Amino acid sequence: MTVTAGSRSFDSLDPATGEVVGTHPVHSAADVRAAVERATAAGRWWAGLGHAARKTRLLDFKAVLTQNIRRIAALVSAETGKPLGDATLEVVLVIAHTDWAARHAPKVLGPRRVFPGLLGANLSATLEYQPLGVVGVIGPWNYPVFTPAGSIVYALAAGNAVVFKPSEYTPGVGALLVELFAESVPEHPVLQVVTGFGETGAALAGDPGIGKIAFTGSTPTAKRVMTACAKNLTPLVAECGGKDALIVAADADLRAAADAAVWGAMSNAGQTCVGVERVYVVDAVYEPFMRELTEIAGRVRAGEHYGPITMPGQLDVIDRHIGEAVASGTAVVGGPGSVRPPYVDPVVVVDVPADSPAMREETFGPTVTVSRVADAEEALVRANASAYGLGGTVFSRDRRRAMDLARRMRGGMTAINSIISFAGVPALPFGGVGDSGFGRIHGADGLREFARPKAISRQRFPLPGMNLTTFSRGQAELDRLVRLVTILHGRRKH
Ligand code: NDP
Repeated sequence: MTVTAGSRSFDSLDPATGEVVGTHPVHSAADVRAAVERATAAGRWWAGLGHAARKTRLLDFKAVLTQNIRRIAALVSAETGKPLGDATLEVVLVIAHTDWAARHAPKVLGPRRVFPGLLGANLSATLEYQPLGVVGVIGPWNYPVFTPAGSIVYALAAGNAVVFKPSEYTPGVGALLVELFAESVPEHPVLQVVTGFGETGAALAGDPGIGKIAFTGSTPTAKRVMTACAKNLTPLVAECGGKDALIVAADADLRAAADAAVWGAMSNAGQTCVGVERVYVVDAVYEPFMRELTEIAGRVRAGEHYGPITMPGQLDVIDRHIGEAVASGTAVVGGPGSVRPPYVDPVVVVDVPADSPAMREETFGPTVTVSRVADAEEALVRANASAYGLGGTVFSRDRRRAMDLARRMRGGMTAINSIISFAGVPALPFGGVGDSGFGRIHGADGLREFARPKAISRQRFPLPGMNLTTFSRGQAELDRLVRLVTILHGRRKH
């Protein structure tokens, strides 16, 4: 990406070649305001369509995405540098999520009767989830369609209009999504894009017309976005970084675990929020696991199996983490010389102290640390000793043991005997704890994230002698109430 000082447009570049992929406007705060104004009116229309009509439109959008897989994937590949195959996989995941969100929104969010309780026997109680209005989506560059789509399609399915601010590295993908959505929804600008830099995102987060911000990006930026949101008490869902761990238990399929560790760490050049950054291997299987790992990682080639580092500034972070890791640990694949801008070759370092940046901070490169632990319990304790808590992985053939470890792993998602498999299951919510953020995208929770519950209690008939919400209430009503409550709730269990 290049920009000329004072100019109102900027270029997105192919990080592998430096070629210009596209030129996009730098939208000002006034532009953002105007987009949110348009979205407010469009959102009213979209909400008014109702669930059934929105489902039809979103399923049509899914078909448009499907017909344009190659075009979208080519642009994702050009703007991020990732291989076309990985970009294609990303678009396929978006299609699956769009289908799920469209089909499930009516049932998850639509009106339902709930039991009013015996004390409310004369009431009819209805719960429904109403749209928030305009959702502002701020997205990263590493999965420029899949990641923001996890907010965009769920917010749209919930009946909101969306203003999307893509990363400055991938603005073209954002613009293309909007263009394709308009094929299914041509009447009003229900999905819009605003492009530019951090200031454009900040204007969106601070806009008074926004019902919620869905932010995906780094933890420090999430804090800045939260500050901007505070001005208008705008709620926020924050999908931030991670330092995910993979645990290899003594009974694991070692070949499969090593293969998963390498793919989890190196695919997309390690620029994956739920990528594997730390591996904890039980002592009993450490040596055979390392043989598998080094053999598999040794065959992975930067520029062939994965692309360049998309954001040039990240190269320094990766370089520093590798340098500090090998200062006290041992590189078994690659090393400090592996950073060859814009590429980084695979790096595996063992015996890195727990306080090293490579063990604590998000590296976001094709690097992984491996630590030997006494048993799976120690692996869990060390995996959980992180400020981050996003995803994680457990390899064990014992189903109950693996489930127990997965439940106790700190973070929103854990995959067992597979790698990041949760991300491809639309029904499963996605999100983190701690420095990895809060709130959820995907699944029913992801739909409810972009809606507000509306509770309605309708009195069907007055309860004779039991009107408690009146100044004409007497002692007799209270006595009756206490008798009823005692019958309902007064019996002790032991
Ligand atoms: P950044 O935090 O740098 O940027 C994220 C987005 O925020 C970009 O669109 C950026 O715009 C925008 N932005 C920057 N400053 C501001 C501001 N002050 N106010 C509002 N918006 C702003 O993250 P990256 O793009 O580098 O993405 C990588 C990060 O994203 C990693 O930490 C990764 O772990 C995380 N991530 C998390 C995921 C999850 O689901 N939990 C999924 C994918 C990535 P611009 O680019 O123009 O500066």
